[in-house]
Amino acid sequence: MADCVAAVKTGMRLILLGPPGAGKGTQATLLAQRHGTTSLASGDILRDAIRRGDPIGRKASRYVESGALVPDDLVTGLIFQRLDGLGKEESFILDGFPRTESQARVLDARLMEKGQSPVDLVVDFEISEEKIVRRLAGRRICGACGASYHLEKKAPRREGACDSCAGGLRIREDDRPETIRRRLLVYHEQTEPLLKFYRAQGKLQVVPGDLEIEDQYQALLELLKRERLV
Ligand code: AMP
Repeated sequence: MADCVAAVKTGMRLILLGPPGAGKGTQATLLAQRHGTTSLASGDILRDAIRRGDPIGRKASRYVESGALVPDDLVTGLIFQRLDGLGKEESFILDGFPRTESQARVLDARLMEKGQSPVDLVVDFEISEEKIVRRLAGRRICGACGASYHLEKKAPRREGACDSCAGGLRIREDDRPETIRRRLLVYHEQTEPLLKFYRAQGKLQVVPGDLEIEDQYQALLELLKRERLV
């Protein structure tokens, strides 16, 4: 954590929302690395379960590959397993979870049941569809460890190979154009209603999703400072 700037609030619960390709994963990783917090990305957790061939992964794979949402009980089971591994006061960022109103309600109920502090802030990364399609077309993923790259914005040091484990990079199955269209539709139909849910709770704030990585990080950091979470 050499470049750690300032720690986040103890017990912070931050949710990153927004369509695929809006920068949620990149920003969650940067915040976690630079501010000593934990980032849980439901998509990464699902892809890991699929790679390992575990029972939930086997049930989830057809949904992930086709761009549909994985049934709530499977996703919440996996996410809660990870949350149970954290200390009660440990801060965390959720990237890609919740994605439906029912997941959001189950998360609120679980935090309350465990005597933990509620969600502090929900950040919506706003971006146009045209930019999403362009961004996702350049995304590559390591077949071995799941690390994510972008041919223009976050290129690996050696072409086609992962910086961390030297595994081969490939296009994510669900980043193919037809599947991207499906994921965007699913986002509008099932995830966008969540914005209203969190706005009504006074927890929703917006950060532009079409900025360069460092500019987006600065915008997010400013917001977290205003909200006294950093
Ligand atoms: P992501 O990496 O966040 O874009 O997620 C990739 C895929 O994993 C999604 O298209 C869904 O199939 C599945 N997924 C991730 N998070 C969730 C969630 N909270 N609920 C249901 N499905 C999810």
